[in-house]
Amino acid sequence: MQPAINKELILQILYLAACVLFILGLKALSSPKSARRGMNMAALGMLLAVIGTLFHREIITYEWIIAGFIIGSLVGGAMAIFMPMTAMPQRIALSHAFGALAAVLVGIVELHRELSHVAATGGQIPHGLMGAVGFEVLFGSLTVTGSFMAFGKLQELITGTPITYRFQNVTNIAMFVGTFLIFVFLTVMPDTAATVPLFYLMIVAGLAIGVLMVMPIGGADMPVVISLLNSYAGLAAAATGFVIHNNVLIVAGALDGASGFFLSVLMSRAMNRSFANVLFGAVGAVKAETAAAVEGRTVIRYTPEDAISTMEDAASIIIIPGYGMAVAQAQHIVQELSELLTERGTKVRFAIHPVAGRMPGHMNVLLAEADVPYDQLLEMDHINNDFPNTDVVLVVGANDVVNPAARYKKDSPLFGMPILDADKARTVVILKRSLKPGFAGEDNELFYDPKTMMVFGDAKATLTTMVQLLKK
Ligand code: NAP
Repeated sequence: MQPAINKELILQILYLAACVLFILGLKALSSPKSARRGMNMAALGMLLAVIGTLFHREIITYEWIIAGFIIGSLVGGAMAIFMPMTAMPQRIALSHAFGALAAVLVGIVELHRELSHVAATGGQIPHGLMGAVGFEVLFGSLTVTGSFMAFGKLQELITGTPITYRFQNVTNIAMFVGTFLIFVFLTVMPDTAATVPLFYLMIVAGLAIGVLMVMPIGGADMPVVISLLNSYAGLAAAATGFVIHNNVLIVAGALDGASGFFLSVLMSRAMNRSFANVLFGAVGAVKAETAAAVEGRTVIRYTPEDAISTMEDAASIIIIPGYGMAVAQAQHIVQELSELLTERGTKVRFAIHPVAGRMPGHMNVLLAEADVPYDQLLEMDHINNDFPNTDVVLVVGANDVVNPAARYKKDSPLFGMPILDADKARTVVILKRSLKPGFAGEDNELFYDPKTMMVFGDAKATLTTMVQLLKK
């Protein structure tokens, strides 16, 4: 057998194994119990795909590949080491920007390679190839700048407040339609004198669309945008796969494209917002001013001592973590408290709302990091009926996900969003720093409920005091 055939066979086997691992990995990611395994499988799949590609018969020398490998590993390693878990959404945004940039660069190279081939042979650029390259660079370029914008907003390098102006949606849609028409023109007539200038115009327009598209979206809506950009980056990668005849890119890109899109839709639905509202609604700004709505009502300020003495007497406690737990990095101390209470015979469980925090699975990731046993984590549908029989609910930096306004207040952005029924428990202990509203900007009547004990302060500091008191 020829060595070249062996190489091709090895490559195809590795690609097939990679595709299977990607699919199994995605499946395993759908449950917190198997998520870690899913990540490992997907990472192994990616390693096999990279190794497989090294067997590609068109590779003549390995210098550039080794250079790319070293640079990529350094950048990826630095991101993993220096960016904390709370910065996970922006880390993902950066990865998408790099992936999409790679797709755009491959698209540019492939067009020029094809142009040289056409010039040498006198043939024509195939419509299919131009379509795939055009699709790749169009979606790739808007993903590059869109992802950088999302990164900037989340990292607070640029304002997280929606930037809006008159006729913004109309301008954006017109710009996209115009750019899409260039793409259609190039695909239908790939061999005109205007091909190269139009191709670069399409890239520049794509880069501008990425900026304009993300500008009016509030910082807190960025996770939905990021998963949508994830979908675009996947589609660009799949198109790259068609251009360079790479099966693993087609499969991985299609999986990425579909899963990113579904995730965006599911996130919007869990926030009770339409997908269009997230993209064009210009909401999600920091609306701290709405806290003014509290005037006329009073809350009683309790101490950590008060809270712990109530909890010591409780037979059952449900802990509800929210975005504030992530901010305070209180997951380890909350686990310690849960362990101490469990040792004393209290039934302790965690109730996880699907959109608690700022990204899907945010609370699961943090609590898994703190080694909270999976059987103590209960999803909303599985625990909501238990609240009326629960002695104490401990709300750790959550707000919107326990706001009763979601049930009845029709003009609230939360209206219709399913919530955790914390208000139905016998006593509610809320740990937060102030009376400020959460992400949706909606005042929370639960703070003023006579059965609620508000313990103000950083969640980690308060929980640390509570743990010390319990240990005494
Ligand atoms: P939330 O409604 O945003 O409330 C978080 C609360 O944490 C705030 O009210 C804040 O109050 C408190 N907090 C912040 N830092 C704290 C600290 N160091 N110690 C103690 N408390 C602290 O959070 P949530 O209840 O988790 O709800 C999530 C919201 O985000 C929902 O509206 C959801 O739709 C939205 N969202 C979620 C996702 C997702 O994928 N999970 C994506 C986009 C948007 P103080 O400032 O008074 O402390």
